[in-house]
Amino acid sequence: MHGWGDRVSSGDTLWVDDPQFPANASRAVNDAQLRRNIRKATSTIRERRAGLVAEVPDWQELRDSGSAIKDEVLRNLDRYLEQFEAAASARGAHVHWARDADEANAIVGDLVAATGEREVIKVKSMLTQELGLNDALAGRGINAYETDLAELIVQLGQDRPSHIVVPAIHKNRAQIREIFLAGMGDAPPELSDDPQQLAEASRRHLRRKFFEAKVAISGANFAVAQTGSLLIAESEGNGRMCLTLPQTLISLVGIEKLVPSFRDLEVFLQLLARSATGERMNPYNSLWTGVTPGDGPQSVHIVLVDNGRTNVLRDELGRQALRCIRCAACLNHCPVYGTVGGHSYGWVYPGPMGSVLTPALIGVDQAGHLPNASTFCGKCESVCPMKIPLPNMMRHWREREFERHLSPAAMRRGLAFWAWFARRPAAYRLATRATMAALGLLGRKKGKFRRLPLAGGWTGGRDLPAPEGDTFFARYASAQRHGRL
Ligand code: SF4
Repeated sequence: MHGWGDRVSSGDTLWVDDPQFPANASRAVNDAQLRRNIRKATSTIRERRAGLVAEVPDWQELRDSGSAIKDEVLRNLDRYLEQFEAAASARGAHVHWARDADEANAIVGDLVAATGEREVIKVKSMLTQELGLNDALAGRGINAYETDLAELIVQLGQDRPSHIVVPAIHKNRAQIREIFLAGMGDAPPELSDDPQQLAEASRRHLRRKFFEAKVAISGANFAVAQTGSLLIAESEGNGRMCLTLPQTLISLVGIEKLVPSFRDLEVFLQLLARSATGERMNPYNSLWTGVTPGDGPQSVHIVLVDNGRTNVLRDELGRQALRCIRCAACLNHCPVYGTVGGHSYGWVYPGPMGSVLTPALIGVDQAGHLPNASTFCGKCESVCPMKIPLPNMMRHWREREFERHLSPAAMRRGLAFWAWFARRPAAYRLATRATMAALGLLGRKKGKFRRLPLAGGWTGGRDLPAPEGDTFFARYASAQRHGRL
């Protein structure tokens, strides 16, 4: 098993962990504390989101606009990228292009090394997680300090993010207190697990970093082609500190983050805040364009990162994943994510968006079982502000996965057996009726099965209730006969 940050080459992308979703998930399913932490946090966000979405009368039209704008960008990405580069350069930013993680990490490492600094502060960025940037910098003797509270918790705990918006969602406040006492050198020894005390301890710890750091690294939520501006939306103000105090600012931007014009931000900022954290507006929206003499960082670098994205563009269906604005609404509503948490997915992008982005970015070979990590309830698609057809896309990747991976003889024989029955409804009904009757009889005493041959995948993680009554077909036919349908 590879550790987080281990680098396994996959063409021009990077694989950072072992994609053993079934094994990871069955371990996580047995962690009751993890499930409690995740359910508590996601249910709060879900409720807040639902209330705020309901108060926007044109929410569906906003979703339509957002996805149409992103589709337009993806169709003309080359033109918008060049427009962005020209506009940002004209305002004093240095624009760099990185084909893959190695190039991006080398560019950032060289830029930091040129300043002579050995420490950088960071604004939370999923792209830098994807690139394994912190480890790459550490390999060059440069320490990167995360300044988002949840990212700080994850970093001090030598852990991994398990959610794209709330990276420490799997930890409760008692666990966070322990992490602070063990990993934060200046944490007060009398620190309790009171949220205010924890926030205060991190604020004091980070404030020193903000004032000392000469170099900051950020991602970007959006990049405006028309003006060359970048935008970061956040809730704690740490981003604002990182983006304004240091002398050098290096921003890594996935090439799909472009929007054509400044006006388009109006659409995305409404969609993002409500979908991500259940707020009408992010408390801090920091927007900057190149260098402003005498104000803020005087050396501004923007690294435009591909890392597999142009490959995704070639796939008509798969390219829709690039509309994603990383709001995490699909994670917060996914019953699978809610049960197994983010670490089970094995890479930086968990939940439904991970199940479509991971195979798109690093290939179905490496993504393995991820497109199957779904109940196909469709909730993810219904809440996605960018109207990404997540279940359909998972089916798309499932087909690819089946063609390439999951075709051992036993599975083929099993499917052929099932197909024989599926083509013969009378035989199918007879077989299911006989099976139901037999299971009902066998499980009569306990009402459930702890283990069952051929159903090990189910009973490995939960009991199988013994069937009661008749099959669905028989009940349906009976309801029709008695005029109940
Ligand atoms: S797929 Fe949709 S819901 Fe999920 S993170 Fe991306 S934009 Fe948000």
